[in-house]
Amino acid sequence: MSDRLAIVVPCYNEEEVLPISIPELLKVLDELTGQKKISTDSYLLFVNDGSRDRTWELLEEAHQKDSRVRAVKLAKNCGHQSALIAGLMTAKEDADMTVSIDADLQDDTSVIREMVEEYHNGCEIVYGVRGSRRSDSFFKRTTAEGFYKLLAALGVKTVFNHADFRLMSAKALNELAEYKETNLYLRGLIPLLGLKTGKVVYERKERLAGESKYPLKKMLALALNGITSFSVQPIRLVFHIGLFVLLICLGAAVYAFVSYLTGDVERGWTSLILSVWFLGGIQLLAIGVIGEYIGKIYNEVKHRPLYHIETILKEDEK
Ligand code: UDP
Ligand code: MG
Repeated sequence: MSDRLAIVVPCYNEEEVLPISIPELLKVLDELTGQKKISTDSYLLFVNDGSRDRTWELLEEAHQKDSRVRAVKLAKNCGHQSALIAGLMTAKEDADMTVSIDADLQDDTSVIREMVEEYHNGCEIVYGVRGSRRSDSFFKRTTAEGFYKLLAALGVKTVFNHADFRLMSAKALNELAEYKETNLYLRGLIPLLGLKTGKVVYERKERLAGESKYPLKKMLALALNGITSFSVQPIRLVFHIGLFVLLICLGAAVYAFVSYLTGDVERGWTSLILSVWFLGGIQLLAIGVIGEYIGKIYNEVKHRPLYHIETILKEDEK
C-alpha cells in the first residue's frame, strides 16, 4: 500500500492558468499512481484565496469532472502564505505527504517525481531549489538574492533559492502546526523543524499565463516580515548606534575642551555641543535597551515550540 499525496496549490485570480495547470497536475498524479509511488486516492487541493475572477467556478467544474480535484475556498483574500498554510493544514488530516506548488506552474512539475522518491528514501521535507534565476528579470534576481544574503547575515536560516515549492510529510506538517504565530514566513520556519531533508534542483520557467500576483509592494511586505519575524538584529543595531554616538561624544568632548582652552569659541558652545552628542547617544542607547526587552517579549509571544521530537523508542501500547 503506497502513500497518499496531496498537491496543494494556492490560487488568487488564476482563471487564465487553471485550465492548463489542472490537467497538467492530474497528469502528474496519473504518472505517479501508475508507477505505484503514490496511492490511487491521491489528490490535488486548490485553495481559492478570495479570488475576484472565475477561479472558484473553474475549480467547481473541475471537481465535478474529476473528484481528485478538491478545493478550499477562503472567505477573503488572506495572502499567499496564509492560503498555503490553510491548504497544508487541511491536507495533513488525510494525506501522508504534500507538495506545495504555485498555480502558474513556474516550478517544474516533473521534479515532483524526484521529491516523492526522496520521501520514500526517508526524507520528511524535500526542498525544490532553483538551479539558476535566468527566468527572472534582472531586478527580481538581484533583489531576491540580496535579500537571502541579508537574511543569512542577520542569522536567519533559510535555504538559498528555495521558495515554497516543497514536499512535506504528514509528520513534518504536524510539527509545523505547533507554530502558532500569525506572521507567517514559511520559508524561515521549515528549517527550524530539524527533520531529515532532501533537495531537488530545477529550472524555474516563465508564468504560464496571466500576470504576477506578487507586485513589488507584496514582495517588500514579505521580505520585511521575513526579517522581523526571525531576527531582533535591527533592534540591536539601534543599541550599537547609541554606543557609537557615545564614542563620538568622547571625541567631541576632547575637541570641544581643546577649543575651549585655546579660547577660540563662542560662549556656551562647548556645553551645548557636548549636551547634543551626549543626550543623542544616551537616548539611542536607552531605546536599544528597551528594544532588547521588547524583542524578548516578541519572542515569548510567538510561543514557538522549544523542540521537535524525531522518534521515540517505546513498547507498543496494548
Ligand atoms: N497567491 C495567493 N494569494 C495572494 C497572492 C498570490 O494565493 O494574495 C498565489 C498565486 O495564485 C500563485 C502563488 O500565490 O499560485 C504565487 O504567486 P505568483 O506566481 O503571482 O508570484 P511570483 O511567481 O510572481 O512571485
Ligand atoms: Mg509565479
